[in-house]
Amino acid sequence: MREHALAEINRTLEQKVTERTLALESANEDLKQLARSDALTGLANRLAISEALRHEYLLYKRTGASFAVIIIDVDHFKRVNDNHGHNTGDLVLKRVAQLLNDSIRETDFVARFGGEEFIVLLPNTTDAAIVVAEKIRSAIANNEFPVVKHITASIGVALAGLLDHTQDELIHRADVALYQAKNGGRNKVVLATTSPTA
Ligand code: GH3
Ligand code: MG
Ligand code: MG
Repeated sequence: MREHALAEINRTLEQKVTERTLALESANEDLKQLARSDALTGLANRLAISEALRHEYLLYKRTGASFAVIIIDVDHFKRVNDNHGHNTGDLVLKRVAQLLNDSIRETDFVARFGGEEFIVLLPNTTDAAIVVAEKIRSAIANNEFPVVKHITASIGVALAGLLDHTQDELIHRADVALYQAKNGGRNKVVLATTSPTA
């Protein structure tokens, strides 16, 4: 009888442990997800895109499957905050995030890189990246935003090349192209040169 009672207690305990383990695993998954998403826009964040980029880059090195990155920076965004307040700025960023999501395919990856800067990763893509970037540019320029009505963004595009020794070099090239777009008058797409710049 005593043995029977003990076995029962054991079973109950084991079940409790199993339940707790499952709950912990699920909480861990939630945390992992939270750590990789941007609270304002719900997009992936910088950590998540860095991981995705690293994965894509290693794949490229191994298989030669080329990919592209697009960096998008909202033009004169400081003015939006200065003229209309931070809350309006936040609304604009959320809307930009939606437009980006609507402009890409499900296999592409979009993230908020920081502030008013976003990044799109296009696996298995070369020249078509410039078409996607142009689509994003015009989607933003033609959209009517709450309060501010119209804004534009400047865009840098880089295609993974054999001379990029790390994913950071690729990002750097996209960034240089982005600043060329800014200097060229904004609301523009610029394709990075294929050789890494200093
Ligand atoms: P440029 O055309 O050269 O890119 O000019 P800019 O004004 O967009 O560039 P700058 O980097 O000077 O300003 C970025 C602004 O973005 C400043 C910062 O306050 C604002 N910002 C960054 N993160 C957020 C955010 O989460 N919400 C809001 N509302 N503003 C943000
Ligand atoms: Mg900006
Ligand atoms: Mg910026």
